[in-house]
Amino acid sequence: MKPKYFLVLIVVALLCPLLHAQQVNKYYPSGRAPLLAPKYVKLPFGTVKPQGWLTTQLNLQANGMTGHIDEIYGSLKSLASADRGAEYLYCYYEGLMALAYLVNNQTLITKAKAAVDYIISSQTADGNFLGTTEAFDHVAICRGMIEYYEITGDSKALTFLTNYFHYVNSAGLTGNTWSTDRKPEHVPVALWLYNHTGDQIVLDAITKSCVSTLNGWRGNYQNFTFTDSANPSGGYSEYRHNVNIGHAFKYALYYLQSKDTSYKTIYTKGLPLVDKYHGSTCGRFNADENFTGKQPTQGMETCGIAEMSFSMEKLFEAFGDIAVADRAEFLVLNCFAGCNTPDMWGHQYDQQANQILVNVSKRPWNANGDDSNIFGLYPNYPCCLCNVHHTWPRYVEHMWMATQDNGVLASLYGPCQVTAAVGNDSTIVTIDESTEYPFTGTMGFKVSVSKTDSFPICFRIPQWETGAVVQTATTSVTAAAGTVCTLNKTWHAGDSITVTFPMAIRSEYRWNHSVSVMRGPLWYSLKIGEQWKKNTSHGQGSVDWGINSTTAWNIGLKIDPQHPNGSFTVAHNPVTNVPFAQKGQQVYLPGSTSFTTWTQDPPVILKGQGRILTGWTTNAQYTGNANDPPVSPLQESVAGRDTSIELIPYGSARLRVTEFPWISTPVEVLAKALTIKVPEVSATVERNGTCRITVRPTGAFDLAVLNLAGRVVTRIHASGPQSIVLDNTVLHEGAYIAQVTSGGKKFKERISFIR
Ligand SMILES: [Zn+2]
Repeated sequence: MKPKYFLVLIVVALLCPLLHAQQVNKYYPSGRAPLLAPKYVKLPFGTVKPQGWLTTQLNLQANGMTGHIDEIYGSLKSLASADRGAEYLYCYYEGLMALAYLVNNQTLITKAKAAVDYIISSQTADGNFLGTTEAFDHVAICRGMIEYYEITGDSKALTFLTNYFHYVNSAGLTGNTWSTDRKPEHVPVALWLYNHTGDQIVLDAITKSCVSTLNGWRGNYQNFTFTDSANPSGGYSEYRHNVNIGHAFKYALYYLQSKDTSYKTIYTKGLPLVDKYHGSTCGRFNADENFTGKQPTQGMETCGIAEMSFSMEKLFEAFGDIAVADRAEFLVLNCFAGCNTPDMWGHQYDQQANQILVNVSKRPWNANGDDSNIFGLYPNYPCCLCNVHHTWPRYVEHMWMATQDNGVLASLYGPCQVTAAVGNDSTIVTIDESTEYPFTGTMGFKVSVSKTDSFPICFRIPQWETGAVVQTATTSVTAAAGTVCTLNKTWHAGDSITVTFPMAIRSEYRWNHSVSVMRGPLWYSLKIGEQWKKNTSHGQGSVDWGINSTTAWNIGLKIDPQHPNGSFTVAHNPVTNVPFAQKGQQVYLPGSTSFTTWTQDPPVILKGQGRILTGWTTNAQYTGNANDPPVSPLQESVAGRDTSIELIPYGSARLRVTEFPWISTPVEVLAKALTIKVPEVSATVERNGTCRITVRPTGAFDLAVLNLAGRVVTRIHASGPQSIVLDNTVLHEGAYIAQVTSGGKKFKERISFIR
């Protein structure tokens, strides 16, 4: 060997330990050699506790099907493993364990603990359990066993998982089509287990059993062939089945074991391709069983939503990609909320963006039955019945993560409390997050620390938020969209932080150049009068429901797509004890023995203008479906009758139109129709960049101009009558509320401000 090459080798050898050194969190295991460290570390299950409306939602679930499935459908022990329902029932226990402990429901904890004991006691000397050789059954149980271990510290769970991976290493992964296609679902479980135990056999088992399936998924997105966006037909392929796809995005985590960046393309290439050819609203795609293109009457299975949202949470943990965390919120807060009944007793198999009738009738599904869009016990097939239970608990689980520099990150938002070890000397921080997010964009964080210490508290700034402000008592930071805002400082007990997302209304173009309307993480659907009809009762709150419309659904929006924020006013209502209900829906409330017709509005309503389009009708062949929206923009002369309309959160609407045809209407015209008419205050918006607000009552008045998130932009004390001119250094483009207090009375006027 030539001396200079020898020297190079010595230098490389000396550098290798440094090259491998990676910063990992002191308190929460990740990145154990030879694994790469993920960007963040999920905190142990139970570390994040729900508060506010999330507690309400989880308690609804505990009192709904999750708490009663064994009384309505069957238990793990009572069903033979040959039964297809029993096979899927394994998924149920994953959700039951998580929910029971999160809401601290002793009845459910008893059920969950009995299931854990039964499963662990079934493990044989070779590591197999429940007498099944189905890899998919096994991994569903393993996913739940992680949560059980994290929340209880029961070492039997760790031994159980270790024994199972030794079994996989010697026996391989076996089973039916689903088990074969979803083998790499073991990858995240193995990464977690190896980080906790360092047992090399766990990683060997993955290398032996999963790599050829992983290579198949990678190859699928490198040479994607499912590129027909207009209702493609075609049978099953593992790569076009919605639940497989939902699972598979997270197979990109194999990069952390293999260090081969090409495995990351399973999501970096996969997500854009799926969106391009089959994307729908709310971050999902269309595939009833298999890909079906982009038409808004095509659907997606509830299992697909449950698995895709979990994948997005795991991907954010691994790679810190803001877009996938945004998408986890989209999927859970829109699609998952909306494909379940508001009381969490029933679900759909397939949900549609434009869903104008819920009934048993022929629809052009790719593979599903006529009952696929009804809400009920197990429309079409029992898999979703068993798979709906982990999604809300997992959302809570992933709301906060540990950063590798011993801080914490708010990754998904909503009311909760997190307690975690931080800093360099085991400081314990508790952060109370008070908010009605996603219905509002203001979040208050109260910090408690076991001792004064310096560590980072970080906030995910969604890609959709261009006006985020993060404030402490002494600082105010404007944070860029799609970034992480880090506050690295010394924290004292009682410190507080406010994060404000103004949530300007946005729009996106969809099928036939239709438009969808979003605000914050929520999509907004037409509020359609709903009349619920019982088809079949299965006991307690379990009913198969059909839903008829009582108001027009065939609405074209009058909107200025370039200025969607000026095309609507935002009205807030209290978040109720059924957060995703709207008027007319039937709910089986906890403690009740009969259904109640819900009479309250959803927490947010967007008020706007539209036209009932006489030419947009139901489909002649498939009478349960709307025709495609007519190609937009529509002419101003298009036949119909103008009307005021209300849009409500997609998750509150069980009938809905979400992809709207539209008539281009300038904001100035819309503002007139939307203005709150009061004689005491008026606003004139000038095109020269000024806004004149006239206050007519005599005497002292207080004028506050608020943005639509309710934050005061400017405030003036003066005497009326008076006209006040505000230029564009005060008011940026958008919609505001001018609020005048005079003589003990309050007057409001809406202002749309266009440069
Ligand atoms: Zn399903």
